[in-house]
Amino acid sequence: MGVVQYWATSRSRDKKYTFMKTTLKKYFGYDEFRPLQEEIIERILRGHDCVVLMPTGGGKSLCFQLPALMLPGMAIVVSPLISLMKDQVDALRANGIVAEFINSTLSHAEIAGVMEQARNGELKILYIAPERFGVPGFENFVRTLNISLVAVDEAHCISEWGHDFRPDYRNLKLLRNKFPAITIIALTATATEKVREDIVKQLALKKPQIFISSFNRPNLSYEVLPKKDSLKSILTLLNSYRNESAVIYCFSRNDTEKLVEDLNTHGFTAAAYHAGLPANKRKENQERFIRDEINIMVATIAFGMGIDKPDVRLVIHHSLPKSIEGYYQETGRAGRDGLPARCALFFSYADKFKHDYFIRNMADETEQKKAQEKLDQVLRYGNLHGCRRLFLLRYFDETYDKSNCGNCDGCVMRTPLHIDKTGLNLRATKPKTSYLSSSVGRNMYNPALFEELKSIRTLEARRLKVPPYIVFGDKALREMATHFPQTSADFLEMSGVGNQKLSKFGELFMSAIRRYAETHNATIQGKTKLHLHNEHRTRSIHAGSTIDETKKFILQKISIDEIAKTRGLSRGTILSHIEKVSNTDMQVDLSYVKPPQERFEKIAAAFKKTGGFALTPVRGILGDGYSYDELRLARIFLKRL
Ligand code: ADP
Ligand code: MG
Ligand code: ZN
Repeated sequence: MGVVQYWATSRSRDKKYTFMKTTLKKYFGYDEFRPLQEEIIERILRGHDCVVLMPTGGGKSLCFQLPALMLPGMAIVVSPLISLMKDQVDALRANGIVAEFINSTLSHAEIAGVMEQARNGELKILYIAPERFGVPGFENFVRTLNISLVAVDEAHCISEWGHDFRPDYRNLKLLRNKFPAITIIALTATATEKVREDIVKQLALKKPQIFISSFNRPNLSYEVLPKKDSLKSILTLLNSYRNESAVIYCFSRNDTEKLVEDLNTHGFTAAAYHAGLPANKRKENQERFIRDEINIMVATIAFGMGIDKPDVRLVIHHSLPKSIEGYYQETGRAGRDGLPARCALFFSYADKFKHDYFIRNMADETEQKKAQEKLDQVLRYGNLHGCRRLFLLRYFDETYDKSNCGNCDGCVMRTPLHIDKTGLNLRATKPKTSYLSSSVGRNMYNPALFEELKSIRTLEARRLKVPPYIVFGDKALREMATHFPQTSADFLEMSGVGNQKLSKFGELFMSAIRRYAETHNATIQGKTKLHLHNEHRTRSIHAGSTIDETKKFILQKISIDEIAKTRGLSRGTILSHIEKVSNTDMQVDLSYVKPPQERFEKIAAAFKKTGGFALTPVRGILGDGYSYDELRLARIFLKRL
């Protein structure tokens, strides 16, 4: 990967800005910065320390990943969440960014290999677990490197005042002392003023600028439901989120186990997550959840999960949380991808008594008082008649000036909410009020194509041994199922599609979209037009005439590439025309596009093995040596047999 040094030389702010934006699109596939990202990145590029406070899902990673790409040298990212490092590195690699990690899950030889790569200047980003900084010789290793910046993620872990103090983070105190010139950026989602001051002090940051973003999560809806016949209510809720990810928090380990059993009996795929499970079982359940092999995680509130899954659509509290802080953090796991997600809390006094019992039995009186105060706030939240969002934000000392958030049960209607058939919209008993704020809501995309794209994503993720969301997020797939992109330029317009993903996955997904569009004679919506006119312009595909046009070329035995070039269409489109022609007219001689016999036989055998005509499993068997186009062509002849 070329090292981007433009920043160092450019003097024009506009040019810098354009360059930031193009790098954002090129590597991450996004068109716009989220709030504060741009300001933070600018500051880092100028070499200043900063502290970033942003809610979960706010987009903290991008704040150090993007400058890491723009600056010469390599960025070091310190993170305590070992289980997430590999996924984060995989996600960067999928975007064409050379990254590695060093933690205790690697062998000595593997660590030595990564260190060698770092020394050779081959890496742009290196994730490191905090205990490494205490390992003898590590400091000397760092001295051999050209470091662009050091990002300290989950920075509250350095403070004993925080809720998640990690002694290993104290190793980082030496950083500033040993490397006075390095830019340090500290990031966290949870920080009181005390913790924030502690972060600055412990890391000895130099005149840091502190960025505090709003803790409002507009895409999350909040509601409280009475806890009566809760299994039935949960099943109703989950039914509207079939094949999507949900997290359910329970009071005790027993509750989680029981609920998992109930859910599985009712045809859902759920697994438990609590401190009583052996570490390997926990890990396994977590992996299966991240890989979409199970849809529902049922966890105890006492036990934090290191899960960064961006597409959790529903978070249910089966019982009362211990505090508003906890509730905010737990619900924060929903909708990291920015798409609408739902947070439902089941409320009952029986649960309050359970908490009371625990609190009464606390030994330390001050702790007891604190716990009681926290629980009281939760009860206030549960009994609230006004806006729940306003309550949450006030709790964190943030002002909110809208009188109606439009996305909580208190605001939508002051009556109980029901779940409508699409499962997405909370609905007050009528007038009907839709809650959707996102531009790519469920009502706009084609659900059948979305499911098709999802299954392609699953297979591709399995082949690459990464979680499905690393291939594409739900947002990207929903956009594809809305706009039907069929050319590289259109495909690049999708959120989360940068250069690397276009070249790696573009054809695979576009060919599915073309197939779908043609078999369903679907109408497509050009995204650019959508932006320009701010309305839904539709463009229909005149399938009949365009296929006839291609057929004329086929009869003259013109090569596929030539046809594509002449007609100004993609190769994939021409291929689907050929498939159509083959289906409707057995007489047309297509032998000139048939793969060479030896390869054809290998492909035929692979299709036979899979017992179907789906391309992805066949590709899985044959590997990269066979292109999807070639498999498609071979399939034409297999179908003709
Ligand atoms: P945090 O660490 O603050 O919890 P992440 O860095 O994990 O959040 O980002 C959450 C999600 O938001 C990720 O899926 C990320 O790719 C996405 N994201 C970040 N920045 C942007 C952006 N500018 N536009 C669109 N999506 C973004
Ligand atoms: Mg993060
Ligand atoms: Zn509200």
